[in-house]
Amino acid sequence: KLTKLTDTYELNNGVKIPIVGFGTWQTPDGDVAEKSVEEAIAAGYRHIDTAFAYGNEKSVGKGIKDSGVARDQLWVTSKLTGNDHGYENTKKAIDKSLNNLGLDYLDLFLIHWPNPIAYRDSWEKTNADTWRAMEEAQKAGKLRTIGVSNFRPKHLDALLKTATVTPQVNQIFLNPSDLQPEVVAYNDAHDILSEAYSPLGTGKIFAVDELKTMSEKYSKTVAQVVLRWSLQHGFLPLPKSVHEARIIENTKLFDFEIDEADMKTIDGLRGVAGLATDPDTITW
Ligand code: NDP
Repeated sequence: KLTKLTDTYELNNGVKIPIVGFGTWQTPDGDVAEKSVEEAIAAGYRHIDTAFAYGNEKSVGKGIKDSGVARDQLWVTSKLTGNDHGYENTKKAIDKSLNNLGLDYLDLFLIHWPNPIAYRDSWEKTNADTWRAMEEAQKAGKLRTIGVSNFRPKHLDALLKTATVTPQVNQIFLNPSDLQPEVVAYNDAHDILSEAYSPLGTGKIFAVDELKTMSEKYSKTVAQVVLRWSLQHGFLPLPKSVHEARIIENTKLFDFEIDEADMKTIDGLRGVAGLATDPDTITW
């Protein structure tokens, strides 16, 4: 039963992760990133999601520090950028992200995309080498948990051939517009937590009539309905906002429950905010 923002899911290595994370993609580096992270932590978020590729790790780290909340009360995720795959690169990239964030460990580090253009001809071997570096960093205490992002079953199958640690997390595009059933089923079967990125369809779900009607029915905003739907599926949503009122609004998810019929209606909204990007077609 979900009751508050600081409730946790237990990952496959026993580590507990706060069930809602604060997103920072497209949050401008500098004051905006710093301030929104501070506001999120003040609003009760204990889980912050960033990435080297977002270009804002330093400001996010400053916001975390300035929040005054103890490090061990916070969950911080970052991700390996598409140019830094491979054993040696990954080791350096982990230190680079730690240094940017001003932290001596990360709670979670993810391979951001399985198949970036720089490694397209060798992704299987390169991901195996990357993963070995991440396993070692986990053993060394630099990373509490390790995972992947945008991985489809074939990318996970390939990784698991040589992995000694099963990824704790797969962070994927997951919202009413695309439930990615094959990926979620694979994650579930391997005890990999499905984190929901773009839980609000990067802002595109607000115009959907069915959601507006439901918002009235539950006396909650569309954002709250959709984030609650994500939680009731057992996903871990990562809403992003740079506006304090919305940052707070997106935490008020625990005083209502979406009934089964409405859950099904939302499940059927496929396509309303676009579909997940095929990782094999990204061009960077
Ligand atoms: P979201 O689905 O979280 O939507 C964010 C958008 O919705 C912004 O435009 C925001 O505007 C707006 N918004 C947020 N809350 C409200 C609200 N209550 N009412 C009205 N509008 C609102 O977008 P993202 O695509 O950023 O995904 C969230 C996070 O997931 C990212 O920030 C990142 O951390 C992660 N992610 C990971 C990816 C990966 O490859 N692993 C890819 C994409 C995202 P405003 O900020 O102006 O308030």
